[in-house]
Amino acid sequence: MIGTVYKSTGSWYLVKTEEGKEYECRIKGKFRLKGIKSTNPIAVGDKVNFTLETNNDVETGIIDEIFDRKNYIIRKSVNLSKQTHIIAANIDQVFLLITIDNPPTFPSFIDRFLVTAEAYSIPCVLAFNKIDSYTEIERRAEVMYLKDIYENIGYECIEISAKEQKNVDAIKERMKGTVSMFAGHSGVGKSTLVNAIAPELNLKTKEISEQHKQGQHTTTFAEMFDLKFGAKIIDTPGIKGFGIVDMEKEEVGDYFPEFFALKNECKFNNCIHIEEPKCAIKDAVEEGEIAWSRYKSYLQIIEGDENSYRVDEFKD
Ligand code: GDP
Ligand code: ZN
Repeated sequence: MIGTVYKSTGSWYLVKTEEGKEYECRIKGKFRLKGIKSTNPIAVGDKVNFTLETNNDVETGIIDEIFDRKNYIIRKSVNLSKQTHIIAANIDQVFLLITIDNPPTFPSFIDRFLVTAEAYSIPCVLAFNKIDSYTEIERRAEVMYLKDIYENIGYECIEISAKEQKNVDAIKERMKGTVSMFAGHSGVGKSTLVNAIAPELNLKTKEISEQHKQGQHTTTFAEMFDLKFGAKIIDTPGIKGFGIVDMEKEEVGDYFPEFFALKNECKFNNCIHIEEPKCAIKDAVEEGEIAWSRYKSYLQIIEGDENSYRVDEFKD
């Protein structure tokens, strides 16, 4: 039988078939995955093949095959083995929630996030939240300014108020028939938005989950949920890192779509757009065709110390 992994605890997996039947599954023997050294062979979102067994009248499954992933996100495991943990797989899109203040989301954060998403092949939609609170003209202007930058380079931008449920339908529309995740700094309104979209999930309020965090060391697992309007979301409680991408300097520009589009116009084909003469990217920045903030983020990623182009911010 074929199904999708909705929950993974490391020792067993909740797998749901297309007909909506749920089975508790285990893996037989060891799974070796080509190319990925990870602590968990199977993650939420994985499509798997399994065979049924009956133990004491209970049907459980044995997973014997994982289908190829279209993408996945990882987090580096805390020990020093350099192994990675796969958080989720087969994600159709991530909504990055952005607020102008309370808390501020800076372009450098957005750009690092987008570079990671591009590197992982995960489409990203920018959701500007709390628009109800941007009454001052300066705040409105900041939203317009950022929206302009990101729309121009091909990212879909949606203005919303999760709290007042403004334009939340646009997010729902975009989610229909897909698997989505929500990301952004703590306090941008992720839980509020998910509550507005899917009240049936009854997500714990922030206060409760904060208390929980302080109280004990809890291991949390990602989980996928079916929403009433025909969408799936993956919730990743307590997971802070989006995974780390080790990139060569020459590669970073490939994940800035507007740089990538001009790449072949640079004189040198290994141009990293810093000191090289006849660089199409630098020309475009000077002519205002590439936003200065984007180029600055690029430089920050590429010129920092060795580790700074390991992009590892997802939530803060
Ligand atoms: P999370 O940490 O990203 O999950 O953020 P929360 O959903 O917990 O929201 C943090 C705070 O922002 C809460 O006090 C929310 O009431 C508030 N908030 C969330 N969305 C909005 C919004 O659209 N407008 C305004 N004014 N406040 C919001
Ligand atoms: Zn160049």
